[in-house]
Amino acid sequence: MNLSYWEYKSWLSNVDFTVVGSGIVGLSCALSLRKRFPHARILVLEKGTLPQGASTKNAGFACYGSLSEILSDLKNHSEEEVTELVRMRWEGIQLLRNSLGDGEIGFEQHGGHELFLVDDSDKYDRCLNEMDRINKMLEPVFKKAAFHQTSNSFGFGQIVNHYISNSLEGQLDTGRLMRALLEKARRAGIDILNSVTVENYSQLADGVEVRTQHFEFKTSQLFIATNGFVSQLVKESVKPARAQVLITKPIPELAIKGTFHMDEGYYYFRNIDNRILLGGARNLDIAGETTSEFGTTEEIQSKLESILSDIILPGIPWEIERRWSGIMGVGPQKKPILKQLSNSVYCGVRLGGMGIAIGSLIGKSLSEFAD
Ligand SMILES: Cc1cc2nc3c(=O)[nH]c(=O)nc-3n(C[C@H](O)[C@H](O)[C@H](O)COP(=O)(O)OP(=O)(O)OC[C@H]3O[C@@H](n4cnc5c(N)ncnc54)[C@H](O)[C@@H]3O)c2cc1C
Repeated sequence: MNLSYWEYKSWLSNVDFTVVGSGIVGLSCALSLRKRFPHARILVLEKGTLPQGASTKNAGFACYGSLSEILSDLKNHSEEEVTELVRMRWEGIQLLRNSLGDGEIGFEQHGGHELFLVDDSDKYDRCLNEMDRINKMLEPVFKKAAFHQTSNSFGFGQIVNHYISNSLEGQLDTGRLMRALLEKARRAGIDILNSVTVENYSQLADGVEVRTQHFEFKTSQLFIATNGFVSQLVKESVKPARAQVLITKPIPELAIKGTFHMDEGYYYFRNIDNRILLGGARNLDIAGETTSEFGTTEEIQSKLESILSDIILPGIPWEIERRWSGIMGVGPQKKPILKQLSNSVYCGVRLGGMGIAIGSLIGKSLSEFAD
């Protein structure tokens, strides 16, 4: 496309910082750059008409990791590493709440609960045996014993009669959070261009040449925040991981409130607007769900439906209103990749299933590469 003199001059000349991706990491990075560089020209390029990865598709849990997930992480990470991951989630949520305000992002703290199937009662016993040890390990983060047992007050089916709960967990409205971040960025004079895909870039002696499907331009520094799509731009150890979700129509007098985890985090559900939002089951087809293509499958959606009928809403009628998917970025380690790729190019990617919790922190850290 031939850009006019005006288009080029007004949007694409003298660009100081370009951020690729307008998910929670990209927008948090751009906003942190604005704080440090009040007069800089900051540009965010986004391939979707809306942010189109995970940040507008997720479940909106403000969570820190269920007990079984933490125990599972301890098989591949040291106690220090796991404590650090939990601390990042905790501090990330506080940062998000403080910078945008609970009202703006629809934050509510109803607590989080892990459910265990009757068939899996061994796992429940193991978790219970380890609860005190993990509470001690995490006390420096939460300043109290976070995990405790509560009874099955919501009447879920096929589960052991107690949950392992963390009353510090909360939930937010994903759409409101993303709108708040986009509005804050626009108010801060950050240009956001949608439907622009960055195809590649070259490090130059004095900046970076960026090529998109529509135009090329030069920027002083480039920040890549494309998470599950990053391998299309740079070779990093990140795989796309699709996650499927469904939401019911409103259910009269729905009593369920909170965020709920099952099976080491492979299943998760919550209340929102008198509905149940339920996601997961990617462990049924890990190979098929290792894709950056959006879509839903019969196998996973029918498993989610059976969980809705048998476990979450036994005897309560429900109808599905909507189904969708989002793309996460995962890898052999849960730690995000935050690094300098060349003189003036940096990336903050591989947010896994916890990007709401840690996205604002990673965006801020990404911006700290800028000079
Ligand atoms: C179904 C689902 C449920 C989840 N639930 C939770 C939860 O409850 N709590 C939690 O903490 N986390 C959750 N997550 C994870 C969380 O949503 C992500 O970790 C987080 O949103 C990642 O943010 P990001 O900014 O790194 O990536 P993204 O939000 O994916 O943003 C990357 C952006 O880059 C854009 N992009 C990609 N390539 C290019 C390119 N070449 N040029 C221009 N733009 C490009 C994409 O369109 C996208 O908008 C969930 C994820 C999914 C999918």
